[in-house]
Order: sequence, then structure tokens, then C-alpha cells
Amino acid sequence: MSLMWMPDEADGWSAVELENAAYALRPNDSTLTRHEPGSRPPSDGALLVPCASSNAGDTFALLARPADAARVNGVAIQNGMRVLRDRDSIQLANRSPLYFSSEGLPTVEPLPESDQPLFCPRCKASIETGSPAVRCVSCGSWYHQSEEFPCWTYSESCVCGHPTALDGNHRWTPDEL
Ligand SMILES: [Zn+2]
Ligand SMILES: [Zn+2]
Repeated sequence: MSLMWMPDEADGWSAVELENAAYALRPNDSTLTRHEPGSRPPSDGALLVPCASSNAGDTFALLARPADAARVNGVAIQNGMRVLRDRDSIQLANRSPLYFSSEGLPTVEPLPESDQPLFCPRCKASIETGSPAVRCVSCGSWYHQSEEFPCWTYSESCVCGHPTALDGNHRWTPDEL
């Protein structure tokens, strides 16, 4: 799941999780509001719209009107549209930038039904549909994660190298800039 890092009143950052929905960004305030399908797009500012992809809600494009209403990484949007990448900064008018992040947080969830049996990269055994599992947010591999089979947290990192901490902390925040 992707995020938008928004500056908060305490000079820090707060993360807004983006659902698979459109959002409006206005130049005169620092809020992200849900844009209902079929309603009028904002007459100024920008629209954040989800792009179709294998992981719905991971990829977003920014549509701006007029095109120079928004800058991504300091550059005015070409042709009024730009697909966002991890850690892109978004600036409307002269406001301080927001940051897009495609970093999801690993969570324990029941393994969804799939056409083919899934094998845990750690213990090599199959994972039963509906049993507690974690999907790596980086490589997409599924692991067992129960008291009996704590395969995801068994090592500090996934086979792809992504950390396996389930502490709910993001690895990157705009503070790192
Ligand atoms: Zn396992
Ligand atoms: Zn991984």
C-alpha cells in the first residue's frame, strides 16, 4: 500500500495510507481529500488517481490542471500527468512539499485463495489458504507467520533482503532528506 507523507503541525511528518481511490490535492490547504468518482475534479490543484496494476493501490498518477499547478521533484508536470515513483516530492503552488512513498508495511493476514499452491521460502512447506501469513512488501513472497510457524520473522530479512520487523514502522520518512 502506498502512502503520502504530509507535514504536520509539529514540524514532523504524518503518513496517510492511500486506498485504491482517487484523492484531490488543493493548493490552498495541506489536506488530501477523497475524490468521489463522477464528481467534478477540482478547478485548481491536482488529482491523485490509482493506476491499474497487479497490486491495486500501489501505483498512482498525479493529474494537474493547469499543468504547472503542481511540480514533481521541482519540475512542472508535463502534459498534465505524471506517474509517481517512490519518494517523489509533490509541490502545489508555493506550499511545502508532500512525499509519495510506495513502501508498504508487512502485516499478518490470512493467505488469500490462489490457483496454485504457495510454498513458504523459509520452511519450503505449502501454506494453507486462510492460515496466518505475511506477504513481503518488496518481492511479494508469502511466508507462514503463526506461533507454530514464525517463518517470516524467523530471520531478520526476507530472502530478497527486505527487513521482516512487524513493528509498524516505515523504513523511510522524509526526515532522511
Ligand atoms: Zn514456513
Ligand atoms: Zn521479499
